[in-house]
Amino acid sequence: MRKILMVMVFSLFTVLVIAGTYAYAGVNTSPDEKKITKQVDDPIVYVKEGGKKYHKRNCKIVPTGKKGIKLSEALAQGYEPCKVCNPPTADVYVNPKGKVYHKKGCKMVSKSAKAMTINEAKDKGLPACKICFPPEKDKK
Ligand SMILES: [Zn+2]
Ligand SMILES: [Zn+2]
Repeated sequence: MRKILMVMVFSLFTVLVIAGTYAYAGVNTSPDEKKITKQVDDPIVYVKEGGKKYHKRNCKIVPTGKKGIKLSEALAQGYEPCKVCNPPTADVYVNPKGKVYHKKGCKMVSKSAKAMTINEAKDKGLPACKICFPPEKDKK
């Protein structure tokens, strides 16, 4: 009888430990927190089917029919920032096969350079250009 009681206490203890571990993991990977970080790194912009520009959600020119995509996706798909609503823009440029990232207007930036966010350039492991000194971080 005593043995059974011990087994029961032990199982209860195990369940509590497991529950505690899960609760802790849940706090650690709070989805809200993740979402916020993600938005800072790569803000959501809005594009319309067939359009050439990307917008902020409340843009007056394209009030409806937009879909939200990540800024990096919009840039990769060749969308340009709307001049009216002033959406977040790519901060830096990287030449094809370029080894560094540049500020807009740097003389080293070629016509075929790809626009991207600083975070994206950093993700690719690219250092800042030593001629134009682009910012090291996304401006906020
Ligand atoms: Zn717009
Ligand atoms: Zn440069």
